[in-house]
Amino acid sequence: MDDLKFGKRNKRGDWAPFQRLEIAPFYRLPPRPMAILRWLPGYFLPWNLVWAASAVAYWHLVVPAPEAMQSFHWGWILRLFAVNCALVFLFYGAIELRLYMQRAQGNRFKYNGKFPSDQKNDAFLFSSQNADGIIRGFGTGVPIWTAFEVLILWAYANGYVPWMSFAEHPLYLFALFLVLPIWHEAHFFCIHRLIHWGPLYKWIHSVHHNSVNPSPWSSLSMHPIEHLLYFSSSLIHLVIPSNPILAIYQLHYSGFGAVVGHIGFDKIEVSEGSGFDSHAYAHYLHHKFFEVNYGDGLVPLDKLFGTWHDGSAEAEARMEERFRRKVERMNRKRGAQTPAE
Ligand SMILES: [Zn+2]
Ligand SMILES: [Zn+2]
Repeated sequence: MDDLKFGKRNKRGDWAPFQRLEIAPFYRLPPRPMAILRWLPGYFLPWNLVWAASAVAYWHLVVPAPEAMQSFHWGWILRLFAVNCALVFLFYGAIELRLYMQRAQGNRFKYNGKFPSDQKNDAFLFSSQNADGIIRGFGTGVPIWTAFEVLILWAYANGYVPWMSFAEHPLYLFALFLVLPIWHEAHFFCIHRLIHWGPLYKWIHSVHHNSVNPSPWSSLSMHPIEHLLYFSSSLIHLVIPSNPILAIYQLHYSGFGAVVGHIGFDKIEVSEGSGFDSHAYAHYLHHKFFEVNYGDGLVPLDKLFGTWHDGSAEAEARMEERFRRKVERMNRKRGAQTPAE
């Protein structure tokens, strides 16, 4: 595909889309039904439907009968852990293999013209972005993800939380399915904003931000405390009436969905003339500029707090102005603290 029909490339080789990012249209007043209709397919495709399908398949093929999960036996816990590891390896690995190892579409649609593996960086474990992501992802990411999953399934199996069936409550559960990504985003925005606070950033979140040019294995390259906070969105299923398949959907949304923002390419080509949108740009801009796009626009919190960056020159100017004011504030504070000579 000709990526220059969809965006422009600068002298450094970095590509950016022409189209501005937009927050979800249902927050706008007056309501714009046509905009919502246009936006809706992208809400489901490609990713949300993939996680929904993976959750259903996982429930039927991997999760044991509820009676087996009434106590914490290593057998079923290790089985879930092993399957989660294998699925992460296959899913993350497939994207890494095609786009970063085989470089099947070169740097077409690639936001950052460079490939991370071409540059060593001592900020990473073994100076490698991939090694860092793989060690952290499998070392603490998937274990913590599985721990939440085990806890939730154990609670369902013992009847500690209300288990609504799809046969009896189809509308309620479908509505919940629609709302869960919005919950994920609101929760993520809050924990993410929290760990951008100075001391927590240095201690916890800087690990994830070592990937200035993110690639698939950056997705779960996090400090274990960030993993804990990140996957804790699933705990909502211990609070509201739900169904274990939706709890698994929530975990797949977080665990596999983490890849989405870190793909590094705007479109994934499937043939000479076609490809699909990755939805990666908002979070790419977060990795590039740090203090914009704490969320992806599904909830309007960035817009509300003035941190939304839609990729345009105007947004860039607003961001620069915000940074300038911040430096000014910090200098003033520093000046006030320094005793006069
Ligand atoms: Zn990220
Ligand atoms: Zn961040």
